[in-house]
Amino acid sequence: MPTTNDQMLQGPLEVVYEAGARLAESPVWDDRINCLYWVDIEAGRVCCLDPASRKSRTVEIGQRVGAVALRQNGGLIAAMEQGIYYLDFDSGETHWLADPESHLPDNRFNDAKCDPCGRLWAGTMGMNRPRQPVAALYMLAPGQPIKRQLDQVSVSNGMAWSADSRIFYYIDTQLERVDAFDFNHMTGSITNRRTVIRIAEGEGRPDGMTIDNEGMLWVAHWGGWQVGRYDPQTGEKLFSVELPVARVSSCAFGGPNLDWLYITTARDGLSEAEAKEQPLAGSIFRIKTNQKGRPADRYAG
Ligand code: ZN
Repeated sequence: MPTTNDQMLQGPLEVVYEAGARLAESPVWDDRINCLYWVDIEAGRVCCLDPASRKSRTVEIGQRVGAVALRQNGGLIAAMEQGIYYLDFDSGETHWLADPESHLPDNRFNDAKCDPCGRLWAGTMGMNRPRQPVAALYMLAPGQPIKRQLDQVSVSNGMAWSADSRIFYYIDTQLERVDAFDFNHMTGSITNRRTVIRIAEGEGRPDGMTIDNEGMLWVAHWGGWQVGRYDPQTGEKLFSVELPVARVSSCAFGGPNLDWLYITTARDGLSEAEAKEQPLAGSIFRIKTNQKGRPADRYAG
């Protein structure tokens, strides 16, 4: 039985920040400072939104930045056009760590997240060939060489781990589904790939995702005007949060109780007419739910 709004939500969808971003992505809640980091990939910006004041600070990076994750030692780790870097948000200083695809100048890093053991997982995509499997998924641990974990990827996205760290959920947007792997948290190896969710026809393509405390996946529907909540055991869509914009890119739980779902969106690629119909495209939205997320895992360096 699909669940109702009253069961799922504590309030209506709100615009928390009218960012007008080209491609807002990678929302990550920093529970140390009660702010939401996010990136505007195409603008090459990393931003930090304080929902209390509704102000967002920005650092200009000078290259496309696909995603950021938090570090245990403070600061951020960022997956960018030209590799993976530490980023000190306050000074804007970067420190280069790795670039496994320097031989593929059309590829850039896209989504990235840390696993429960503090490794960074970051995937790539071909900027001019987003429909072709020319990209890959990498894993980086402090003091170790970067490791390719998956190839033949088109647009690397999603990423979430089950609470017991035994399952890794992954999205290649081009495949229009969510896949699961058995996850060995000691080594980071991923095996036994299978499809757990298929996105219904006409509901866009899966992009970013997060997991709640009941093990359900919240998946952003790029071109689908919604975030869907899915049961990865059955593949069933349980609920959806509808948005007034088509290009919904990612979501993450945040707030002091981790029960607000923050949602990023984009305006890049809309026609003039579409942009007129979607004046809030590129905004950061949020909605208070009856679920909770888990604190974002931090990079162990
Ligand atoms: Zn994405």
